[in-house]
Amino acid sequence: MYGLGILKGMAVTLKHFVNSYVDDIFWSSRGGRYYNDEALAVRQSPQGKGVITVFYPEEKLAVPERFRFVPFLVTDDPAPGERWGHDWCTSCGICAKVCPPQCIWIKRGKQPNGRPKPEPEEFYIDIDICMNCGLCAEFCPFDAIKMDHDYELASYNRTTAHIHDKERLSKPISYWREIAPKKAAAEAAARQFVEEAKAKKKDKKGEGEEREARLAEAMARQLVYKGGLY
Ligand code: SF4
Ligand code: SF4
Repeated sequence: MYGLGILKGMAVTLKHFVNSYVDDIFWSSRGGRYYNDEALAVRQSPQGKGVITVFYPEEKLAVPERFRFVPFLVTDDPAPGERWGHDWCTSCGICAKVCPPQCIWIKRGKQPNGRPKPEPEEFYIDIDICMNCGLCAEFCPFDAIKMDHDYELASYNRTTAHIHDKERLSKPISYWREIAPKKAAAEAAARQFVEEAKAKKKDKKGEGEEREARLAEAMARQLVYKGGLY
């Protein structure tokens, strides 16, 4: 009948509207907010009945571990009394090469004798150009650049404030473990695997074993990706 579709549509909308409040009351009565992690797992799945409103910026949803915004540089945790830990970045330049919009600039450090130093003297990322693809993090052979969860970077300054320098980019490994615990653990396991394989290779106990170690190293490098972490 003409108009029945419109009525059905309105009935569905009304059902969602009512269910939103029923769900809010149900999840609030379970001792938490109506959009806590447990509630979201259900309410954002196909089993969810109503809709959820979060009053951003006063209230914020936790982002999932795989969430990625602009990159940051990993350092060791700083020693007591120090501001920065040792850079993991070796200034190899791979991230700058693979970055599709070419928004990474690196100046390699120099030793007093003029020879290159395996750490960056300067490191810049233009976050207005960065498209958050994560390729830099995926290709870095040293786990030295990771995708951050901090998405509140807007400002009225459209020039220098959006070019993040080494100081702004550097964050300790403990921060990475905190925002991406599963990924960080898998990467640590892969690094350990690689170190053990390298140690085996150094022993040079025979061609067969060396080949096996090389294979183990290659496999370890794939561990993180195979785990579906990117
Ligand atoms: S790929 Fe990794 S180690 Fe190489 S320059 Fe980029 S962040 Fe540094
Ligand atoms: S996330 Fe993508 S666009 Fe941004 S710096 Fe890394 S490679 Fe470049």
